[in-house]
Amino acid sequence: MLAAVRGSVRPKGAMPKVGRGGSSTSESVSGPLEGGAVAMERTAFAMGTYVRLHIAGPQPEEIAQACLDELVRLEKVFDRFQSDSELSRLNAQAGTGWVDVSVDLLRAVEVSLELAEKSGGAFDITIAPLVDEWGFREREGRIPDHAPPSVSKITSALRRVDYRRVEIDSIAGRVKLPSGMQLDLGAVAKGYALDRLASLMVARGMQTALIDLGGNIRVLGERAAGRPWRIAIRHPRKAGEIYAAVPVTDKAVATSGDYQRFFTWKGRRYSHILDPRSGHPATELVSVTVIAPTGALSDALSTAAFALGPQEGKALLESIPGVEGILLDRKLRMTVTQGLVGLVDRH
Ligand code: AMP
Ligand code: MG
Repeated sequence: MLAAVRGSVRPKGAMPKVGRGGSSTSESVSGPLEGGAVAMERTAFAMGTYVRLHIAGPQPEEIAQACLDELVRLEKVFDRFQSDSELSRLNAQAGTGWVDVSVDLLRAVEVSLELAEKSGGAFDITIAPLVDEWGFREREGRIPDHAPPSVSKITSALRRVDYRRVEIDSIAGRVKLPSGMQLDLGAVAKGYALDRLASLMVARGMQTALIDLGGNIRVLGERAAGRPWRIAIRHPRKAGEIYAAVPVTDKAVATSGDYQRFFTWKGRRYSHILDPRSGHPATELVSVTVIAPTGALSDALSTAAFALGPQEGKALLESIPGVEGILLDRKLRMTVTQGLVGLVDRH
């Protein structure tokens, strides 16, 4: 059930499924940890997904517990489907003026609006009405198959999608949503949470760790001196197999894939990343993995590049310092950003 690969054997064909009921949320998986100085591993369920913590250092138990407590706290900030979450309360106050928000919500919205701008609106956290119209809401761990919405429903949802109408006051810590607008932070919340956990670990003196939050990964340091962590990328069409692996040190890795959350109708797959320009699911890519300095950035960028498609997506990733990516198109042709050329190990 967990996306963990342990031992020194090559993991091909040995990947267990991630997520609930076979419906995965994200798919980067940590690679073999041979020789790694892992003092402790802890697994749990939080923020709607599996969490795996590899911690090497003093008092790992205490740190793991602090991380899990933090995830429980963050779930109450970001879960749009929990009526008493902070995000739900913000959404409920759309059209009523400025709303004071927590630092967590403020930062996640800030990063998202910056990226919305950089991606020319392909990444847009006001996508919620469109996500709802398409019916991308899991029930019992999967999205029930259903007919796609009509053109008029899509057009009317799109009228309520436009990040430029969200106002943010970073100094006062408040956000203002116009009437009818709703935020969906599903594309960035897990990555943001990874950053919170990483700073919590660093503040406690931790130098070597791997945090896997439903396939969104953040590593601290190297797994052992001179040996980077190896992060495996799930094969988008062969369940349980790995497509490629990349070495990573002190970075975050996120994968957005069309196989993670989707429904089918009349033999067609409709997957969860929507292109706000068309109002339809983005279909040019099947998987985008992004390596970035922070979890929030890797998470948001993988969604953004997915929505943009191969050329524009790659260009966006290459325009941001410290960011690299691996993009797979419908024919499973792989493109990598300049800094990764020669570094991706194909399985
Ligand atoms: P991820 O799994 O990180 O790629 O995020 C996908 C989730 O982000 C979806 O389930 C939606 O909730 C939301 N989403 C879908 N399309 C977009 C988009 N174009 N911009 C921002 N968020 C999106
Ligand atoms: Mg994302």
